[in-house]
Amino acid sequence: MNHDLYKALLNSQYLSTKELLRISSKKILIIGAGGICHPFITYACSSGFKEFTIVDNDVIEESNLSRQYLFSRADLGKNKVNVLNQRLNQTYPNLKIDAVCMRADEKFLFDAAQEHDFIIDCSDNFLTRYQISDVSKELKIPLIMGFGGKDQGQVFFTSNQSSSPCYECIFPRDDFQESEISCQTAGIVPLLLGMVGSYMNMILLNYTLRKIEPKFLTVFNLGDNGVRQISVNQDPNCANCFKK
Ligand SMILES: [Zn+2]
Repeated sequence: MNHDLYKALLNSQYLSTKELLRISSKKILIIGAGGICHPFITYACSSGFKEFTIVDNDVIEESNLSRQYLFSRADLGKNKVNVLNQRLNQTYPNLKIDAVCMRADEKFLFDAAQEHDFIIDCSDNFLTRYQISDVSKELKIPLIMGFGGKDQGQVFFTSNQSSSPCYECIFPRDDFQESEISCQTAGIVPLLLGMVGSYMNMILLNYTLRKIEPKFLTVFNLGDNGVRQISVNQDPNCANCFKK
């Protein structure tokens, strides 16, 4: 491990060299290579995480560039996952990135998730989000979800232990599944995606090192400079947590 890359982190004394090595052995599955993935993976790499699978089938468009800052104009038309892989390896030479150019479906998620320690949801549609929630719950893999639309960003974490809430405890799928709203259609103030992706890293780091588990849905609200934390408990009527 090149310790100079992590000098500031180690000098902070938030973690030791031994803990940095432990972090580097964790495998992270990221769904979506868009506006939340960029700040997420930037800071995950700077915290010492090294093994990632990133899945996304999109190519880079000009309208992405204002928030997907690891891409440049020279990348237009290229596959997002391949460019991310190349760009991050220019800074962190020992990364292991599996760049998967496809739209994640339930079978892929189920097979891939079993090989990873964390699932990071950076997807931009409800169908995929519920599939990720289902798979992580079934396999009991910790899940960090980030989403944003218009003037609001949200982050949710579940360790997926038996008493943990799931995404559907907050957002029952019958209310959302039919809607195909994405960042592109709903619009988003890009800075919110930076906050979401960064905050997901705080959770990832604290849970990996100290098993600190947030019990909240965190909401970033642009209009009033607000950061709200809403308590989340398992819903006894949740169809996902209590399958019949
Ligand atoms: Zn639930």
